[in-house]
Amino acid sequence: MEGMRTALVTGGGRGIGAAISKRLAKDGYRILLTYCNSSKPAEMVVDEIRETGIDAVAANCDVTDAREVALLATHPWITEGIDVLVLNHGRYDRVDAKELGITHLKRTMATNFEGAFLIWDAVKTHLTDQARICVIGSQLGTRGSAHGADYSASKAALAIWARSLAQSLAPDGKRVNIVAPGFVDTDILAGDSPEKRISREQEVPLKRIGTPEDIAGTVSFLVSEDSNYITGAVVHVNGGLYLP
Ligand code: NDP
Repeated sequence: MEGMRTALVTGGGRGIGAAISKRLAKDGYRILLTYCNSSKPAEMVVDEIRETGIDAVAANCDVTDAREVALLATHPWITEGIDVLVLNHGRYDRVDAKELGITHLKRTMATNFEGAFLIWDAVKTHLTDQARICVIGSQLGTRGSAHGADYSASKAALAIWARSLAQSLAPDGKRVNIVAPGFVDTDILAGDSPEKRISREQEVPLKRIGTPEDIAGTVSFLVSEDSNYITGAVVHVNGGLYLP
């Protein structure tokens, strides 16, 4: 479509991804969001965006499946050119580092790290000249976690890969940045007891858990012209919880 800018948001149907999809729609992008298992929430996000007069569509794609990723890359909104790519999908299953097994480790790496690579690799020839890429990492990718050695390692790999990509793409005018959230109110924290939630809030200097919109606002900035001189950055959005 002439003049229409397109954003692709992986895992854009719920949680942080849903907030990013809605925010980028508000910013004027038509939204192609992907989901893996949760089709209903994804369709609801699409409907909500369309009600505002912005076009949106949901595509089913398991990022660990190279065939599904290759099929996604044939979507006309992708072949017409992507202005913004947000690699947001991710999984976090709490397992103590001492108990971590190779099957679990491989699954986490396949989703959080290799899945991001597969998407990038499949769509890279369709990025527009000034394309912006935003990768959702995690504070745990720098901090580590007793309950998420696999997750932390996958997010560390993701961040350093994205930084490397930023250096490689900079001469082409394309920018890549990483957002590293702290605690954010999504299903990832849904298992918290009320006591755990209060202790998390107390731990954060700004005294609250982050909202998906807190992350979406940062992504919006990092893909906008206001951040034209920022690339390869890891932006920590965590209420002051962890300042590397
Ligand atoms: P949610 O669990 O709410 O959402 C996870 C998203 O990832 C869903 O859209 C899910 O799709 C998608 N996803 C998972 N596995 C796959 C797969 N194999 N293929 C495609 N998509 C997949 O988590 P959040 O919204 O909280 O997390 C979003 C990102 O933010 C993640 O990368 C997460 O690691 C990161 N993050 C979150 C923090 C938090 O406190 N919430 C803190 C730091 C980082 P579906 O539901 O359709 O399966």
